[in-house]
Amino acid sequence: MRVVAIIAAAGSGERFGRPGGKQLATLAGATVVEHAARPILACGRVDGVVVVTREEDVPAFLQLFADAPKVIGVVAGGETRQDSVRAGLAAVPPSAEVVVVHDGARPLVTAEAVEAVLEALGPGVDAAVVGHPSVDTVKSVDHDGFVVKTEDRQRLWLVQTPQAFRVDALSAALERAAEAGTVATDEAALIESAGGRVRVVAGSRDNIKVTVPEDLAVAEALLMRRAEADEQRRSS
Ligand code: C5P
Repeated sequence: MRVVAIIAAAGSGERFGRPGGKQLATLAGATVVEHAARPILACGRVDGVVVVTREEDVPAFLQLFADAPKVIGVVAGGETRQDSVRAGLAAVPPSAEVVVVHDGARPLVTAEAVEAVLEALGPGVDAAVVGHPSVDTVKSVDHDGFVVKTEDRQRLWLVQTPQAFRVDALSAALERAAEAGTVATDEAALIESAGGRVRVVAGSRDNIKVTVPEDLAVAEALLMRRAEADEQRRSS
């Protein structure tokens, strides 16, 4: 098993405000996490998938993925996202060379995005992530609401998942962070802080993260548009 994906879906969903969190919310007839997992399960380059969830949701997730032979583990996550990825990594078989981390809250992911990060993880690259250039101007703001600095938009990319890593590099970065008590908002940041080279490949703005309930309506509209486009392609 060379490439294993870890789907991080153990967030408490505090900003979502729904008991059970966002990953089990319903979207176009399936849960958010099922939408997030489907293209990864369908991707021919991914050999196995580990799904990380909150301890209390393990039974529900086992049921959701009972018919998915590529799912090689459903494990309980941790306090922070990187604790959850670390828990997922512990369930990755030793034969794996590459790990693809994906947010269980990004239901618009495509198999092409997974292939793109795997392709970009070439020699001299320690991690590859998808993202897109920021269309908004980004300002750093202090606690009193005053602008400290306007960032140079030309260089700003909004980074999403999937993110691909060599297993050894990710494992070392997570161990180092756990020892140092460093918490990052994505695993690529841990590779960067260790001096690693992280490549960003252009992805889609549609690959949104469901964070608040209103995002479900946007995600649903995007999924419908995609289904219509697929239908048109098939019938033409
Ligand atoms: O909280 P945030 O929006 O950054 O979460 C991104 C992804 O990380 C979500 O899919 C969430 O379920 C996951 N996560 C996790 N374990 C945590 C916190 C977040 O798996 N402790």
